[in-house]
Amino acid sequence: MQAFIEGMPKAELHVHIEGTLEPELSFALAEKNGIELPFDSPEALIAAYDFHDLPSFLTIYYAGMSVLIDESDFYKLTWDYLEKAASQNVVYTEIFFDPQGHTSRGVAFETVITGIRKAQVDAEQKLGIRSQLIMCFLRDMSAESAMEHLQMAKPYLGWLVGVGLDSDEYNNPPVKFKDVFALAKQWGLKLTMHCDVNQKNTLDHIRQVIEVIGVDRIDHGVNSLESDELCELIVEKQLGLTVCPVSNRFVVQSLTANEIRTMLDKGMLATINSDDPAYFRAYMNENLIELQQEGDFSQSELKTLMANAFKVTWLPEEDKAAYLAKLDAYQ
Ligand SMILES: [Zn+2]
Repeated sequence: MQAFIEGMPKAELHVHIEGTLEPELSFALAEKNGIELPFDSPEALIAAYDFHDLPSFLTIYYAGMSVLIDESDFYKLTWDYLEKAASQNVVYTEIFFDPQGHTSRGVAFETVITGIRKAQVDAEQKLGIRSQLIMCFLRDMSAESAMEHLQMAKPYLGWLVGVGLDSDEYNNPPVKFKDVFALAKQWGLKLTMHCDVNQKNTLDHIRQVIEVIGVDRIDHGVNSLESDELCELIVEKQLGLTVCPVSNRFVVQSLTANEIRTMLDKGMLATINSDDPAYFRAYMNENLIELQQEGDFSQSELKTLMANAFKVTWLPEEDKAAYLAKLDAYQ
């Protein structure tokens, strides 16, 4: 089963590039940029990864970003992720980045997006892994700041496929960003938003992303299972749900295998993703292997989960069909 998972052609649709910053790269960049880290070694840094909820994770996540300064840092970060993903037979990935986590530290938007873009282009040529970029807004910052960053992205629209919303959902509902997402949609960008597991007012938030924002996909969205009506809406609109098993375990002490199987049974387009793999110590294969063990998923169910991912990618239909045919032929 492990070999089957490792060899399967995969798509990843929920991965924060800043969440792929490996401790070893953190140390290398800190040294290069003359930044002092409050740890003696990469191992000590990993030992300090004590997450039990979203705020405790975000504190460490934002501190980690401090070593990313120039274009080559963003290039290296992105290249390393794409190299790792390609080594796991991820053939296509849609990557999130958080520009506000960098501009707020004085790093120019252009520096961030150019470094990421160059690595994407090189990785496609040299490693054969294709990718597209999604710009996320930090929902605990203001709607005005999000709008400013959308405007900053205007010269780079050709490098972006969509916009997303992440960071702390508590008291930061989707409707706060209604105008920003409406403009992004007008510019031809696809829309997604995080609806994290077990957040306050989660069902209201899921309803807002569908009915008010009009998203093309939902990140996480596991709590939709608590409402038959929301499940039906998600099926009717064929909205993909980017579920992140190992990430979920930090919140609900399970990989949510039961919930994922229920989604499949209901015909919901659940997909499997790594979220912040360097911090959670699990990339795509590790997520799938652990999930398979918890939920005893069959090879056919695993292929369905992966087919869902290719179906809800933001690729032209003929490209989706080509990937799906490759997956279908995989045994
Ligand atoms: Zn996420």
